[in-house]
Amino acid sequence: MSETDKNKLLRRLPGVDHLLALAQKEERFEPIPRSVILASVRTAIDSIRKKILDGKTDEITVTLVLEAAYKTASEKIAPNLVSLINATGVVLHTNLGRALLCEEALDNIQTVARTYSNLELNVKTGKRGIRYQAVEELICELTGAPSAIAVNNNAGAVLLALNTIAEGKEAVVSRGELVEIGGSFRVPDVMAKSGGILREVGTTNRTHLRDYEGAINEKTGLFLKVHASNYKIQGFTADVPLKELVDLGHSKGILIMEDLGSGTLIDFSQYGLPSEPPVSASVKTGADVVTFSGDKLLGGPQAGIIVGNKETIDRIKSNPMTRALRIDKLTLAALESTLRLYLDEKEAMEKIPTLRMLTMDPGRIRKKADRLLAAVKMHAGSVVTAELADMNSRPGGGSFPELMLPTRCVTLSSETLSVSGLEKRMRLSNPAIIGRIEDNRYILDPRTIQDGQEEIIATTLSRILDPNAP
Ligand SMILES: *Cc1c(COP(=O)(O)O)cnc(C)c1O
Repeated sequence: MSETDKNKLLRRLPGVDHLLALAQKEERFEPIPRSVILASVRTAIDSIRKKILDGKTDEITVTLVLEAAYKTASEKIAPNLVSLINATGVVLHTNLGRALLCEEALDNIQTVARTYSNLELNVKTGKRGIRYQAVEELICELTGAPSAIAVNNNAGAVLLALNTIAEGKEAVVSRGELVEIGGSFRVPDVMAKSGGILREVGTTNRTHLRDYEGAINEKTGLFLKVHASNYKIQGFTADVPLKELVDLGHSKGILIMEDLGSGTLIDFSQYGLPSEPPVSASVKTGADVVTFSGDKLLGGPQAGIIVGNKETIDRIKSNPMTRALRIDKLTLAALESTLRLYLDEKEAMEKIPTLRMLTMDPGRIRKKADRLLAAVKMHAGSVVTAELADMNSRPGGGSFPELMLPTRCVTLSSETLSVSGLEKRMRLSNPAIIGRIEDNRYILDPRTIQDGQEEIIATTLSRILDPNAP
């Protein structure tokens, strides 16, 4: 294209004001703030000007520029944090938001968010109240601990407890428990930030009571036990049971802390899952402090719960760091409602989504798989081959690391798309659908698909695979 032609085209570019006025007359631009439309119009004009200068276009119409501006503007106002469909079967998926809340928790969040509350007012006395009191009694009742506090998350709970107990002192930890949880939570790093001095003992696979004994000196302040949440050491192994640590520590005036990670309030073995010692067992054994998450196996909101003896929990409560890690009122509302359900275990199993999905019975999974298969065949049967396959789902979230939960999945294959292509299209659809790839098959696991989402999955498939779909 000659320079003269380019200049001709540039002169035909519509002006910003003209485009803005046109846009504001169109219904589709109505929900978009003026400032966003203006910026998008400018971006659209700039991009077309560049195309002209590069000789990449010889066509300018107002419609084209407006179309580009609309695309930019609507992307700009679209929310970033959005709902999606978890078809991975991973119940506690860290990347997908971990635990889903029960209805009771959702209602309580609304109530406390919409109206003023007694968050820090003691209504009886009219004096200042303590926010933790909304959950302290409940946590104590459910764990058997004399005292408790809830903070922002379990990483915060561990940091806070270590800072309170072990600052400037040696904290003894087995080399087999110097774990990394992911998202940069590593025991040695958290210890360093807490001001505690890490004293490693034993080896990766075997640590004995005599290792702890040998590490004791006048600076020793703590024995820390960390639950191996997301891995398992197998073979020639040995670790020291909490009871032995408690007996040794207490005879020497040393405190015992256990970071349980997940921490459960029920005995999962009754429901066919591996036995995880519940929080109450650690308390009963005599740990001075026990920390665990609110949004792992507990199935509540993101929170860190610290239980223990009154003296240690009182020291934690008065640590200035507690304020920096404090739990917010919406979380507190959700946590209280979730914990209340545990007063009746049957209610908890039925109403807490995490517990429901983890213990879903095989008959119900098969029904869900049949329903999904039928929906896919109905809406997308002509573009995709769908079959049932018996497989395993994983709990996720660093809970039950080796557990495989039998499930029945729907596998999909398409003549026009590869397995990874299918995965990508589903992920980029709206709403995003996250499946998994196993044995070179694209898989949808009904365990984490919520009721009503089958239809959305099926219609999405037909939309992304069928060129003739509306
Ligand atoms: C998950 C986990 C943590 C961190 O808990 P968050 O609630 O994610 O902050 C700490 N310790 C252990 C052993 C864990 O499994």
